[in-house]
Amino acid sequence: MGIVSFQRNNFFSHSPTLTHTDKRVLSGVVCVGLWLIVENDIELFLNMCLKLTRSKLLITDMTMPEFVAGLKESRTIFLPFGSTEEHGQHLPLDTDTMQVYATVKSVALMRKVFVAPPVHYGICRSTSEHPGTVSISSDTFRALVRDLVRSYYSQGLRNFILISGHAGKTHIGALVEVGEEMLKEFPDIRLAVINEYDFCYRAGHEIVEVEGDSHAGEVETARIQYLFPDLVKGSSPREFPDFPDYILVRNKRAYWSGGVWGDPSFASPEKGAKLCQLSAEALAEFVAKFETFSER
Ligand SMILES: [Zn+2]
Repeated sequence: MGIVSFQRNNFFSHSPTLTHTDKRVLSGVVCVGLWLIVENDIELFLNMCLKLTRSKLLITDMTMPEFVAGLKESRTIFLPFGSTEEHGQHLPLDTDTMQVYATVKSVALMRKVFVAPPVHYGICRSTSEHPGTVSISSDTFRALVRDLVRSYYSQGLRNFILISGHAGKTHIGALVEVGEEMLKEFPDIRLAVINEYDFCYRAGHEIVEVEGDSHAGEVETARIQYLFPDLVKGSSPREFPDFPDYILVRNKRAYWSGGVWGDPSFASPEKGAKLCQLSAEALAEFVAKFETFSER
């Protein structure tokens, strides 16, 4: 990434009319960009501008002939999954979807890979009692994932990357379960399941300061401060839940009142920019390996 890829992607060429989201992003770019320029970090600023460019293989933007032409360039697709879930007092309910969709769109600027529209609902267990969390059942979720893989298969896709911005264990487990089914159903596919929070944390572990950071903490706050600064409403107190070991509880808020797992005060937009960049670059490398992977 950097200046070269910025020029190659021909800034704004795919978006003569700015969408509402673009305008929000642009306002963030201007604010954070000025600050980065003052800090003399031009390359980071230009990387940030990449957010406004669009891959040609974004399913939401493609026409039928473009889809057909796209299949000649790639048979790989990201299926991004998020959630509609509380993220403390300060982050939007769509946080998980925003992060994963931004990441896969960045990767699609570096490699030819299809990007499916994101699924904004997932399985949320620990936050199910918090205001704003809208969860779907495991049965519904598994059926949806199965249908999406089958339908994209029938359209010609063969390498499936199921990637989730929501990191709940039940939710990720359901993706793995359907993934195993699909491997049996379609002998000619490759399939990967990625927890994007963990992936990003691993790619950026050297700059993450809070041990055990997770939901609405340092990493997620930093990334949303960078991606959608106008949607971050202040901060939330440091918190770690104290669920009992092994025992499932009904009143989850009694053990996790604020809905934060980590410490948002360690977040900054600059850290968020770096984390997004590191995650996207590592994911692009993964795609290259995945597309040539063959089983023993
Ligand atoms: Zn989250």
